[in-house]
Amino acid sequence: MSKIKSHWKNYIDGDWQEGGAGWLDVTDPASGGVLAKQAMADALDVDKAVQAAKRLHLSGVWSDLRPVERSRMVQKMGQYLLDHIEDIAQILTLEQGKPLWESRLEIEGAARYFEYYGNQGETIEGRSVPLGGSYFDFTTHEPYGVSAQIIPWNYPVEMTARSLSAALVTGNACVVKTPELTPLTNAYFAHAAEYVGLPKGAVNILCGLGHQAGAALSAHPDVNQIVFTGSVPTGIAIAKAAAQNVVPSILELGGKSAAIVYPDADLEALVSDVRWGIYFNAGQVCSAMSRMIVHESIHDQLVELLAAMASSLSVGPGIERTEFGANMGAMVSLSQRDRAAGMVSEARDAGATLVTGGHAMNSPGAFLEPTILADLTPDMTIAREEVFGPVLSVLKCRNEEEALVIANGTDYGLVGGVFTADLDRAMQAVRKIKAGQIFVNEWYAGGVETPFGGYGKSGYGREKGREALWNYVQTKNIAIRLR
Ligand code: NAD
Repeated sequence: MSKIKSHWKNYIDGDWQEGGAGWLDVTDPASGGVLAKQAMADALDVDKAVQAAKRLHLSGVWSDLRPVERSRMVQKMGQYLLDHIEDIAQILTLEQGKPLWESRLEIEGAARYFEYYGNQGETIEGRSVPLGGSYFDFTTHEPYGVSAQIIPWNYPVEMTARSLSAALVTGNACVVKTPELTPLTNAYFAHAAEYVGLPKGAVNILCGLGHQAGAALSAHPDVNQIVFTGSVPTGIAIAKAAAQNVVPSILELGGKSAAIVYPDADLEALVSDVRWGIYFNAGQVCSAMSRMIVHESIHDQLVELLAAMASSLSVGPGIERTEFGANMGAMVSLSQRDRAAGMVSEARDAGATLVTGGHAMNSPGAFLEPTILADLTPDMTIAREEVFGPVLSVLKCRNEEEALVIANGTDYGLVGGVFTADLDRAMQAVRKIKAGQIFVNEWYAGGVETPFGGYGKSGYGREKGREALWNYVQTKNIAIRLR
């Protein structure tokens, strides 16, 4: 493995710069060791980045390009990521903890956003509105201008790719605030921007503390649109800041998503889905299958199958887990691991059965055993609040009505799933589950093409798919009086 650079700077106005808030140690969660130092932006650095983006926007150098030209550059940025996949994957695994093969998947997923939105860039067209013979009326879609994007630590490459690609292809200039725990890999977006020849100011990448750089960015009066992915409390703070400046925001927040399992489900396929659904990225996935609601007639049999799968996963440093398989890496930090382990232990105190896992392991790394809790009641904290770790909460139900009440019984509504051989039964549930995306018989079915976003406290606005593009443009109507 090549040695990681010791100091990582911010990329502002086409230039690599140190930050006014000093340097942050970025640690490897698998060992606790310091990997590198990241420059930390303060409010002044944020202002420099926003002004650079604003200057570019006002110049028209980026927004006035023919869409196909922007699209080609956006597509090439994705190719740049693929061309450097091994370098990026190693750094991602070292800073975030996930197995190397998962890092590669994340980078492929990130590149896919640039491919997809690169393809979509030419499809944003206005329409002509009939107003009778005396008028000609048409609409155009214009970029907002400065798009601020605040990124979480769980999928730093994919989450940045998701908003950056759509914002750029529609002609916006971007300021990305990277997560404090996993800032390093985002530097590759700046390299990609330079490589493909994006104008200065189109992509600014900076790290900083949430309550400093993040708050300064979301409250900046020259930011025209905000995309936030992260926790509910931060989402609320950002929505308030956006409201103060009367700018639109997209909030992609947490979830407590449930799979409903009926007695006729294919249990073997389901076990494999649970392996992905809750143990991929050590469960640190907003749309994780963190709850399972199982019909009582198959509950014990299914829990036994799941426990065998969970306990078969080999847990250890992601950098040693190079190939797809039954393995899991570290969580992102000791504090996230301890928080998750604490929630498991509280659940036991409240009467839950620990079926398997639940314990911290492989000290000094941030590892938690793949965990399954059963005999939960819907009112328990573990059944309502996001753990954001490798912990599956299994609840029993007697019938479909009860399953749906439990499924809809949290404040969240990000995704949901139904597992049954009966499509009519599935569709009944699909209509009633309150969530932005529903999986039938395969958790995570879908892709970059399928719109994603929450109901309830899981947020608003949609990322991914055609729907996301409309979040990055504003419609202008032009009415011409003919003489
Ligand atoms: P977080 O809210 O703590 O931080 C997210 C980002 O917001 C970080 O860059 C952070 O620095 C910044 N931030 C923190 N305080 C801020 C403030 N006051 N103003 C502006 N920015 C601020 O979330 P996290 O712990 O990094 O991520 C985990 C959470 O994100 C989980 O709840 C998870 O469900 C959610 N998440 C959601 C999605 C989705 O697409 N819905 C994807 C990934 C993660």
